[in-house]
Amino acid sequence: MTQYLRDIKDAVVSAFKGMGITSKHLAKKPVTLQYPDERWVLPERFKGFIINDTHRCDACLRCAKVCPVDCIYIETTGKAKDRYMYRYAIDYNKCIWCGLCVAECPTDACQHSLDYDHALYDRTRLVYEFTSPAKPIPCHKETRLEQGYYVPNADEERAKLAAKKEAELKKAEDETAAPDPSPDEGKVE
Ligand code: SF4
Ligand code: SF4
Repeated sequence: MTQYLRDIKDAVVSAFKGMGITSKHLAKKPVTLQYPDERWVLPERFKGFIINDTHRCDACLRCAKVCPVDCIYIETTGKAKDRYMYRYAIDYNKCIWCGLCVAECPTDACQHSLDYDHALYDRTRLVYEFTSPAKPIPCHKETRLEQGYYVPNADEERAKLAAKKEAELKKAEDETAAPDPSPDEGKVE
């Protein structure tokens, strides 16, 4: 009987303790979000699902070769200037977000996105297609240039920026080093 009464007392005390904690938070601002209607703003460098900016991709296959789980599918047709990529797909079922493809890509076409949520009922829908066979992407640099596809890669961009900065510095140095006009210059005799 004593034990029975003690159990009732413990239950009442613990219920009040729980209610005390709950009531403390009633007036506080919630720290949770109404997911999926509301979502956190992710940091700029968040590494989410891999995406391909196909305008920059020249189908060099480096990303597919470096991928440890073979989840990048690239299909091309033709040779040299007539080589076209008609499929670039990533199987998000297999991707482990290692980022090796991003590090290997010479044109920065392969990038991490801020996307992290692809809850689906059908796993086949997790194979994302970035190209359409109806609109193949030219792979050769010259054809890409002709068709307005070519985008300089990260190294080329960096070299261009460095050259621009160097030219600006040189100009500034030349201006500083230019001799002051002589005191007689401009004097009307
Ligand atoms: S992040 Fe890793 S696993 Fe995913 S596609 Fe790139 S290389 Fe493959
Ligand atoms: S490494 Fe970059 S450029 Fe080469 S196929 Fe992959 S995404 Fe395209």
